[in-house]
Amino acid sequence: MIRVRGLNKQFGATPVLKGIDLDVHAGEVLVVVGPSGSGKSTLIRTLNGLVEPSGGEIAIDGVVTPANDRKAWQRLREDIGMVFQDYALFPHLTVRRNMTLAPMRRGRLREAEADAEVRRLLELVNLAHKIDAYPRELSGGQQQRVAIVRALAMKPKALLFDEPTSALDPETVSDVLAVMRDLANRGMTMVVVTHEMGFAREVADRVVFMDEGVIMEDAPPEQMFSNPQHARTRAFLGKVL
Ligand code: ATP
Ligand code: MG
Repeated sequence: MIRVRGLNKQFGATPVLKGIDLDVHAGEVLVVVGPSGSGKSTLIRTLNGLVEPSGGEIAIDGVVTPANDRKAWQRLREDIGMVFQDYALFPHLTVRRNMTLAPMRRGRLREAEADAEVRRLLELVNLAHKIDAYPRELSGGQQQRVAIVRALAMKPKALLFDEPTSALDPETVSDVLAVMRDLANRGMTMVVVTHEMGFAREVADRVVFMDEGVIMEDAPPEQMFSNPQHARTRAFLGKVL
Protein backbone atom coordinates (compact mmCIF):
# COMPACT_ATOMS: atom_id res chain seq x y z
CA MET A 1 0.00 0.00 0.00
CA ILE A 2 2.80 2.39 0.93
CA ARG A 3 6.02 1.84 -1.03
CA VAL A 4 9.12 3.87 -0.26
CA ARG A 5 12.26 3.61 -2.38
CA GLY A 6 15.60 5.31 -1.90
CA LEU A 7 14.09 8.05 0.26
CA ASN A 8 16.55 10.78 1.22
CA LYS A 9 16.12 13.89 3.30
CA GLN A 10 18.68 16.55 4.11
CA PHE A 11 18.19 19.55 6.34
CA GLY A 12 20.79 21.95 4.94
CA ALA A 13 23.92 19.88 4.58
CA THR A 14 22.86 17.30 7.18
CA PRO A 15 21.51 14.02 5.84
CA VAL A 16 18.70 12.76 8.10
CA LEU A 17 17.20 10.00 5.94
CA LYS A 18 19.72 8.01 3.93
CA GLY A 19 18.13 5.82 1.30
CA ILE A 20 15.10 4.38 3.07
CA ASP A 21 13.34 1.43 1.41
CA LEU A 22 10.11 0.40 3.09
CA ASP A 23 6.88 -1.38 2.24
CA VAL A 24 3.73 -1.22 4.32
CA HIS A 25 1.03 -3.59 3.15
CA ALA A 26 -2.69 -3.00 3.48
CA GLY A 27 -3.89 -3.87 6.97
CA GLU A 28 -0.41 -4.05 8.38
CA VAL A 29 0.73 -2.41 11.61
CA LEU A 30 4.33 -1.26 11.50
CA VAL A 31 6.02 0.02 14.66
CA VAL A 32 9.09 2.23 14.23
CA VAL A 33 11.62 2.39 17.07
CA GLY A 34 15.05 3.92 17.40
CA PRO A 35 17.15 6.42 19.32
CA SER A 36 16.36 10.12 19.54
CA GLY A 37 17.41 11.91 16.37
CA SER A 38 17.51 8.76 14.24
CA GLY A 39 14.94 10.18 11.79
CA LYS A 40 11.70 8.47 12.88
CA SER A 41 9.57 11.62 12.85
CA THR A 42 11.14 12.85 9.63
CA LEU A 43 10.36 9.51 7.97
CA ILE A 44 6.69 9.45 8.87
CA ARG A 45 6.32 13.15 8.11
CA THR A 46 7.59 12.53 4.59
CA LEU A 47 5.11 9.66 4.25
CA ASN A 48 2.19 12.07 4.44
CA GLY A 49 3.77 15.01 2.68
CA LEU A 50 4.48 17.22 5.71
CA VAL A 51 8.17 17.07 4.89
CA GLU A 52 9.37 17.26 1.31
CA PRO A 53 11.91 14.54 0.46
CA SER A 54 15.27 15.50 -1.02
CA GLY A 55 15.23 12.39 -3.19
CA GLY A 56 13.63 9.02 -3.70
CA GLU A 57 10.07 7.93 -4.20
CA ILE A 58 6.84 7.42 -2.27
CA ALA A 59 4.00 5.51 -3.90
CA ILE A 60 0.53 4.90 -2.49
CA ASP A 61 -1.33 1.96 -4.01
CA GLY A 62 1.19 1.95 -6.83
CA VAL A 63 0.77 5.66 -7.63
CA VAL A 64 4.00 7.62 -7.30
CA THR A 65 3.83 11.11 -5.82
CA PRO A 66 5.89 13.24 -8.26
CA ALA A 67 8.29 15.73 -6.67
CA ASN A 68 6.81 18.93 -8.10
CA ASP A 69 3.13 18.02 -8.32
CA ARG A 70 1.44 20.08 -5.59
CA LYS A 71 -1.95 18.48 -6.17
CA ALA A 72 -0.43 15.03 -5.70
CA TRP A 73 1.15 16.09 -2.39
CA GLN A 74 -2.16 17.53 -1.24
CA ARG A 75 -3.79 14.19 -2.05
CA LEU A 76 -1.06 12.37 -0.13
CA ARG A 77 -1.77 14.51 2.95
CA GLU A 78 -5.47 13.67 2.65
CA ASP A 79 -5.00 9.95 2.04
CA ILE A 80 -2.52 9.38 4.84
CA GLY A 81 -3.71 10.60 8.24
CA MET A 82 -1.41 11.72 11.04
CA VAL A 83 -1.72 11.74 14.82
CA PHE A 84 0.84 13.83 16.74
CA GLN A 85 2.27 13.64 20.22
CA ASP A 86 0.64 16.96 21.17
CA TYR A 87 -2.78 16.11 19.59
CA ALA A 88 -2.73 19.31 17.46
CA LEU A 89 -6.44 20.02 17.92
CA PHE A 90 -7.61 23.54 17.09
CA PRO A 91 -8.06 25.11 20.55
CA HIS A 92 -10.75 27.58 19.45
CA LEU A 93 -12.98 24.96 17.83
CA THR A 94 -15.32 22.43 19.45
CA VAL A 95 -14.72 18.71 19.06
CA ARG A 96 -17.40 18.65 16.36
CA ARG A 97 -15.78 21.47 14.34
CA ASN A 98 -12.32 19.98 14.81
CA MET A 99 -13.64 16.81 13.24
CA THR A 100 -15.63 18.28 10.35
CA LEU A 101 -13.42 21.19 9.24
CA ALA A 102 -10.94 19.39 7.00
CA PRO A 103 -13.17 16.58 5.67
CA MET A 104 -15.97 18.98 4.71
CA ARG A 105 -13.56 21.42 3.10
CA ARG A 106 -11.92 18.60 1.15
CA GLY A 107 -15.23 17.06 0.10
CA ARG A 108 -14.70 13.88 2.12
CA LEU A 109 -17.72 14.44 4.34
CA ARG A 110 -21.07 15.87 3.22
CA GLU A 111 -22.84 18.39 5.41
CA ALA A 112 -25.98 16.25 5.52
CA GLU A 113 -24.15 13.25 6.92
CA ALA A 114 -21.61 15.11 9.06
CA ASP A 115 -23.46 15.01 12.36
CA ALA A 116 -24.19 11.29 12.28
CA GLU A 117 -20.66 10.50 11.17
CA VAL A 118 -19.07 12.61 13.92
CA ARG A 119 -21.24 10.89 16.53
CA ARG A 120 -20.45 7.46 15.12
CA LEU A 121 -16.72 8.16 15.30
CA LEU A 122 -16.89 9.66 18.79
CA GLU A 123 -18.80 6.61 19.99
CA LEU A 124 -15.87 4.44 18.89
CA VAL A 125 -13.77 6.22 21.51
CA ASN A 126 -16.53 6.72 24.12
CA LEU A 127 -16.58 10.48 23.72
CA ALA A 128 -19.94 11.19 22.09
CA HIS A 129 -20.90 13.25 25.15
CA LYS A 130 -18.01 15.63 24.45
CA ILE A 131 -19.13 16.62 20.96
CA ASP A 132 -19.64 20.29 21.90
CA ALA A 133 -16.69 20.57 24.29
CA TYR A 134 -13.54 22.56 23.55
CA PRO A 135 -10.14 20.83 23.66
CA ARG A 136 -9.14 22.60 26.91
CA GLU A 137 -12.14 20.95 28.60
CA LEU A 138 -10.77 17.48 27.82
CA SER A 139 -8.00 15.44 29.43
CA GLY A 140 -4.90 14.67 27.39
CA GLY A 141 -6.08 11.13 26.72
CA GLN A 142 -9.50 12.39 25.61
CA GLN A 143 -7.89 14.97 23.31
CA GLN A 144 -5.74 12.28 21.75
CA ARG A 145 -8.76 10.03 21.18
CA VAL A 146 -10.49 12.97 19.44
CA ALA A 147 -7.36 13.52 17.35
CA ILE A 148 -7.48 9.88 16.25
CA VAL A 149 -11.12 9.96 15.18
CA ARG A 150 -10.59 13.37 13.58
CA ALA A 151 -7.99 11.69 11.38
CA LEU A 152 -10.45 8.87 10.64
CA ALA A 153 -13.09 11.39 9.50
CA MET A 154 -10.94 11.99 6.39
CA LYS A 155 -11.39 8.30 5.50
CA PRO A 156 -7.62 7.85 5.16
CA LYS A 157 -5.98 4.87 3.51
CA ALA A 158 -3.48 4.66 6.36
CA LEU A 159 -2.80 6.35 9.67
CA LEU A 160 0.58 7.50 10.98
CA PHE A 161 1.23 8.04 14.69
CA ASP A 162 4.20 9.99 16.06
CA GLU A 163 4.65 9.07 19.73
CA PRO A 164 0.91 9.38 20.38
CA THR A 165 1.13 8.53 24.08
CA SER A 166 4.36 10.30 25.05
CA ALA A 167 2.62 13.40 26.41
CA LEU A 168 0.01 11.49 28.41
CA ASP A 169 -0.33 10.62 32.08
CA PRO A 170 0.37 6.94 32.64
CA GLU A 171 -3.26 6.16 33.50
CA THR A 172 -4.58 7.54 30.20
CA VAL A 173 -1.93 5.90 28.01
CA SER A 174 -3.81 2.61 28.06
CA ASP A 175 -7.06 4.24 26.84
CA VAL A 176 -5.28 5.56 23.77
CA LEU A 177 -3.42 2.30 23.14
CA ALA A 178 -6.74 0.45 23.39
CA VAL A 179 -8.21 2.66 20.65
CA MET A 180 -5.16 2.00 18.49
CA ARG A 181 -5.36 -1.74 19.09
CA ASP A 182 -9.04 -1.63 18.13
CA LEU A 183 -8.20 0.18 14.88
CA ALA A 184 -5.53 -2.40 14.10
CA ASN A 185 -8.04 -5.18 14.68
CA ARG A 186 -10.42 -3.47 12.25
CA GLY A 187 -7.74 -3.70 9.57
CA MET A 188 -6.46 -0.11 9.50
CA THR A 189 -3.01 0.21 7.95
CA MET A 190 -0.84 1.92 10.56
CA VAL A 191 2.72 3.16 11.03
CA VAL A 192 3.40 3.92 14.68
CA VAL A 193 6.46 5.58 16.18
CA THR A 194 6.37 4.67 19.85
CA HIS A 195 8.39 3.67 22.88
CA GLU A 196 5.55 1.42 24.04
CA MET A 197 7.28 -1.91 23.54
CA GLY A 198 4.32 -3.81 25.01
CA PHE A 199 2.12 -2.39 22.24
CA ALA A 200 4.76 -3.28 19.65
CA ARG A 201 5.00 -6.85 20.90
CA GLU A 202 1.26 -7.33 20.99
CA VAL A 203 -0.05 -5.39 17.98
CA ALA A 204 2.77 -4.90 15.46
CA ASP A 205 3.10 -7.14 12.42
CA ARG A 206 6.61 -5.78 11.94
CA VAL A 207 9.00 -3.66 13.95
CA VAL A 208 11.49 -1.40 12.19
CA PHE A 209 14.63 -0.24 13.99
CA MET A 210 16.00 3.08 12.69
CA ASP A 211 19.46 4.37 13.46
CA GLU A 212 21.18 7.45 12.01
CA GLY A 213 18.79 7.76 9.10
CA VAL A 214 18.80 4.16 7.94
CA ILE A 215 16.61 1.16 8.63
CA MET A 216 18.98 -1.17 10.44
CA GLU A 217 16.53 -3.97 11.00
CA ASP A 218 12.97 -4.87 9.96
CA ALA A 219 11.48 -7.97 11.56
CA PRO A 220 8.37 -9.40 13.22
CA PRO A 221 8.23 -8.39 16.91
CA GLU A 222 9.01 -11.84 18.27
CA GLN A 223 12.24 -11.91 16.27
CA MET A 224 13.14 -8.26 16.87
CA PHE A 225 12.76 -8.56 20.63
CA SER A 226 14.16 -12.02 21.24
CA ASN A 227 16.82 -12.32 18.56
CA PRO A 228 17.89 -8.95 17.11
CA GLN A 229 20.47 -9.34 14.36
CA HIS A 230 22.52 -6.18 14.78
CA ALA A 231 24.64 -5.04 17.71
CA ARG A 232 23.05 -1.55 17.45
CA THR A 233 19.57 -3.03 17.74
CA ARG A 234 20.61 -5.12 20.74
CA ALA A 235 22.16 -2.10 22.45
CA PHE A 236 19.05 0.02 21.87
CA LEU A 237 16.58 -2.65 22.97
CA GLY A 238 18.75 -3.39 25.98
CA LYS A 239 18.08 0.18 27.14
CA VAL A 240 14.33 0.34 26.51
CA LEU A 241 13.07 -3.17 27.32
P1 ATP B 1 12.99 11.70 18.64
O1 ATP B 1 12.97 10.29 19.13
O2 ATP B 1 13.77 12.61 19.55
O3 ATP B 1 11.63 12.24 18.32
P2 ATP B 1 13.44 11.27 15.79
O4 ATP B 1 13.99 9.91 15.52
O5 ATP B 1 11.99 11.48 15.57
O6 ATP B 1 13.86 11.71 17.28
P3 ATP B 1 13.78 13.41 13.89
O7 ATP B 1 12.87 14.36 14.56
O8 ATP B 1 13.30 12.77 12.65
O9 ATP B 1 14.27 12.28 14.89
O10 ATP B 1 15.14 14.18 13.62
C1 ATP B 1 16.24 13.59 12.95
C2 ATP B 1 17.33 14.63 12.79
O11 ATP B 1 16.90 15.65 11.91
C3 ATP B 1 17.73 15.32 14.07
O12 ATP B 1 19.11 15.47 14.08
C4 ATP B 1 17.04 16.66 13.99
O13 ATP B 1 17.74 17.65 14.67
C5 ATP B 1 17.00 16.92 12.50
N1 ATP B 1 15.83 17.70 12.10
C6 ATP B 1 14.54 17.32 12.19
N2 ATP B 1 13.71 18.25 11.71
C7 ATP B 1 14.49 19.28 11.30
C8 ATP B 1 14.24 20.56 10.70
N3 ATP B 1 13.00 20.96 10.40
N4 ATP B 1 15.29 21.35 10.43
C9 ATP B 1 16.57 20.94 10.69
N5 ATP B 1 16.87 19.76 11.24
C10 ATP B 1 15.86 18.93 11.55
MG1 MG C 1 10.45 12.13 16.78
